[in-house]
Amino acid sequence: MSFISEKVAYLDGLADGLKLKDEGTDKVLRGIIETLGAIAEALEEQDESIDDLSDCVDGIYEELDDIESALDEDFDGELDEDDFIEVVCPHCGETVYFDEDMIDSEDGLICPNCNETIEFDIPGIGESADD
Ligand SMILES: [Zn+2]
Repeated sequence: MSFISEKVAYLDGLADGLKLKDEGTDKVLRGIIETLGAIAEALEEQDESIDDLSDCVDGIYEELDDIESALDEDFDGELDEDDFIEVVCPHCGETVYFDEDMIDSEDGLICPNCNETIEFDIPGIGESADD
């Protein structure tokens, strides 16, 4: 029970003790106290709703943080991944990176810096294809 509800219950007790002779006045007083009780209840429900919403927003922020750090990891780790192979282009001397899938492809490797085709011999890759 909230602080307001306690106050309302206290007022209700006071009204009991009054023993008003005038029925009309008693009705109005009880009506006011009842209305206050309803307002207190509505406020409590809203408090609960706000708490739920806050939890929900906290959850969203946490998920956003997770997504953000996952994206950061992907970005930072891109060139260090085992799936990428570092190659120095024989044409322009630039260090470029290729996906393993690209090295397996029959189209050959195109240097992203100078657009020349890079002949690239790794033992076990493309051995049977050309020779
Ligand atoms: Zn190049």
